[in-house]
Amino acid sequence: MSGSGRLGDWTTGTEAIVYQACGSCGNLQYFRRSFCAACGAPDPVEKRASGEGTVYATSLVCRAATPETRAHIPYNIVLIDASEGFRMMAHGDNDLAIDDRVTARFAPFAGRLVPYFAKAQS
Ligand SMILES: [Zn+2]
Repeated sequence: MSGSGRLGDWTTGTEAIVYQACGSCGNLQYFRRSFCAACGAPDPVEKRASGEGTVYATSLVCRAATPETRAHIPYNIVLIDASEGFRMMAHGDNDLAIDDRVTARFAPFAGRLVPYFAKAQS
């Protein structure tokens, strides 16, 4: 922790999804940068996401890219439109379909905890 205002998220071992919001143009981005990808303004504000969203696309992976992921085959990679308005790639249940309402939890994958989406209880 450098004191730069970065929130802990799953990439640093905290069970949270963090996104960035640009204070100048309002752009939201999931990949953390020191600047806004849309307008270039520095220091976008980091916010914690609710973990709720809608499935935008799914892709079932049937071939392992690395030995560590082989035990998980087949697994689903999903693109999620988060309710906050940004889009993120994550893992999800194999039976998810486009437009399903989903919520995130965190599941072990290849030695780390990753965001994992399942159908929201409705
Ligand atoms: Zn911007």
